[in-house]
Amino acid sequence: LMALRSDVSKPRYVRVNTLKLNTKAAAAVFRKRHKVQKDDLVPDLLLLPPGTDLHDHQLVKNGSVLLQGKASSMVAVALDPKPGWEVLDACSAPGNKTVHLAALMRGEGKIIACELNKERVKRLECTIKQAGATNVEVLHGDFLKLSPVDPSYSKVRAILVDPSCSGSGTAVDRLDHLLPSYQTGHVDQGEMHRLSKLAAFQKMALEHALSFPGVERIVYSTCSIHQIENEDVINSVLPFAISRGFKLGTPFPQWTRRGLPVIEESEQLLRTDPVEDKEGFFIALFVRSISQSESLQ
Ligand code: SAM
Repeated sequence: LMALRSDVSKPRYVRVNTLKLNTKAAAAVFRKRHKVQKDDLVPDLLLLPPGTDLHDHQLVKNGSVLLQGKASSMVAVALDPKPGWEVLDACSAPGNKTVHLAALMRGEGKIIACELNKERVKRLECTIKQAGATNVEVLHGDFLKLSPVDPSYSKVRAILVDPSCSGSGTAVDRLDHLLPSYQTGHVDQGEMHRLSKLAAFQKMALEHALSFPGVERIVYSTCSIHQIENEDVINSVLPFAISRGFKLGTPFPQWTRRGLPVIEESEQLLRTDPVEDKEGFFIALFVRSISQSESLQ
């Protein structure tokens, strides 16, 4: 109930797909019927009054805006890919963040969007088409099986790792059940088993991303509230990351909700609150500087 109540009192966020429409023009359209504000942190994100139903809105239907929340929209911005870069989206369907990356790159450069699940590949392709993203190459396969030394990926400068997770930060219908326990992180044994399996995959996926030789930036994100899928994953890959020349960056330093203080670098990690921010997300950023000559090899 608390979660639902907070849902109606929080603004309705929409992300403008700048591949199709600029933010000023989108705001002007919405302003005819609604009060519109720009988000103070995430570019091209608009706030409409709580409960505004936009599912049938023309701009949503034609792919000019996406019904994407603030926390979810922070992920691609944290990766900060530049126009012209090559970027790998490791776990990409349904593709909301893929097309956000494409927009941040102004459609210039290349995104390789990898997805394992065949049905979800179809959704990914729809999202890409709908958004008018022309610089995305869809790869139906297992990210873990891509060879980091394959010359096809030698120019990849950034990787987004948004792996399968428990979804515990977004499942509003399950939040009621989680509310008493989400701060303590308590879960029952069956759920713990599921979380451990997810965390094992999350660590493998992140380590794999850290193995690509030309990569300078990696974002790891989940929509989970559980430490085991978030801080613990970062902690366990950190020695390997450091051995590969990476260190943790600080996404959105002005954002006050940071990682749980269970690791030394927790202030560099970012969390959003499932109730206060509507979605419980986790974002970590790894950076490394690579000299031009190395990255061109
Ligand atoms: N980034 C997506 C977005 O913003 O729309 C959401 C990604 S979802 C959390 C995780 C995705 O990873 C699922 O579609 C799942 O099928 C896919 N996946 C799971 N294991 C994978 C693997 N080994 N290789 C590639 N994709 C995988």
